[in-house]
Amino acid sequence: VEGTTVKELAEKIEVKPKDIMAALLAKGILATINQPLSEEAMREVAREFGYEVTVRSLEEIINDQQDTLAIETDALDDIEPRAPVVAVMGHVDHGKTSLLDAIRNTRVAAGEAGGITQHIGAYSVEVPDPDNREKLRRIVFLDTPGHEAFTMMRARGAKGADVAVIVVAADDGVMPQTIEAIDHARAAKVPIVVAINKIDKPQANVERVKKELSDIGLICEEWGGDTVMVEISAKHRRNLDTLLEMILLTSDLLDLKAPTKRLASGVVLEARLDKGRGPVASVLVQQGTLKVGDPFIVGLHFGRVRALIDDRGRPLTEAGPSVPVEVLGLEGVPKAGDLFQVVDDAARAQELANYRQSKARMAQLMSSAARGLEDMYQQM
Ligand code: GDP
Ligand code: MG
Repeated sequence: VEGTTVKELAEKIEVKPKDIMAALLAKGILATINQPLSEEAMREVAREFGYEVTVRSLEEIINDQQDTLAIETDALDDIEPRAPVVAVMGHVDHGKTSLLDAIRNTRVAAGEAGGITQHIGAYSVEVPDPDNREKLRRIVFLDTPGHEAFTMMRARGAKGADVAVIVVAADDGVMPQTIEAIDHARAAKVPIVVAINKIDKPQANVERVKKELSDIGLICEEWGGDTVMVEISAKHRRNLDTLLEMILLTSDLLDLKAPTKRLASGVVLEARLDKGRGPVASVLVQQGTLKVGDPFIVGLHFGRVRALIDDRGRPLTEAGPSVPVEVLGLEGVPKAGDLFQVVDDAARAQELANYRQSKARMAQLMSSAARGLEDMYQQM
């Protein structure tokens, strides 16, 4: 952030200001202790001390204050590989739900530890690592009904998924929502894996599907292109292991990593008011580790984590990057796609939530006032 001084950076990464000044000097930058650093200089210097700097826009304007930007520093050792998050998209009835159910059931049947399936907007499965069969790796599938999570998150500027699986029924071919889904994935710069589904059907015509996909720029590897296409039957659970392996190989090219030690942040997948438990949100943790007791802000609401529950209904004490988890302890119901942020100062978060609520109420008043005026004009 423009404006972060040598002193502030020194405090963040716990080194002496004079060491930072010396490191800057070695790069030909002469700086005093209160000198604001450029983002570039800050990044370079922090790296030398083993920290990665991320700039994030923390909060909106509180009262009359200007937008406050904040920096986060993560020790490089605290940045670890994370599981890929996959969105399954495609035309209606092409088999998205069947595929998600089949993957989930297959992997659970394959001997994963028990628990009862809970629909929390996403689930994890463990899959053998293509490079080392002994090792299991996690993949997270978004399974929000209607699959709007990906689009919702995109609309709010969050990256919803790392890989998109586009399901195309082999007996129906490329349809309008297939194209829409591909457009979404492309706009989000998310790599695509195509699952050509329903290959068990007598009317299945895989070649035709590949031809139609090539017409819109997705060319399979056998035809000299670089789009991975896997022929599957969700109904008969055929080739699902190959599909999962291809998802892992595709995500490996992305070198997905996330900081694990910082205050958690993530995105809301689903939220609702539960009769017994109050407001409940399913959250996908994207950075840091979420812990029971953490105060947080989510959308317009403040909260403090009372319990964390995973996709098998098991209680957790903490959840790291790429872990979908149900969170209890909210003061209100957020929206799917809202950002979730743990804060170190609960009072300030409460204040920010109040501010956001009054801003939202104001926006609502304005829009109903505008509608009122419109009605008045129409009656004149
Ligand atoms: P969605 O709308 O994309 O979620 O599609 P569904 O998963 O609800 O599937 C639509 C219909 O296709 C259902 O009747 C499924 O049983 C059927 N279906 C899904 N996958 C397969 C498959 O691999 N083979 C066959 N024969 N039918 C399938
Ligand atoms: Mg469905």
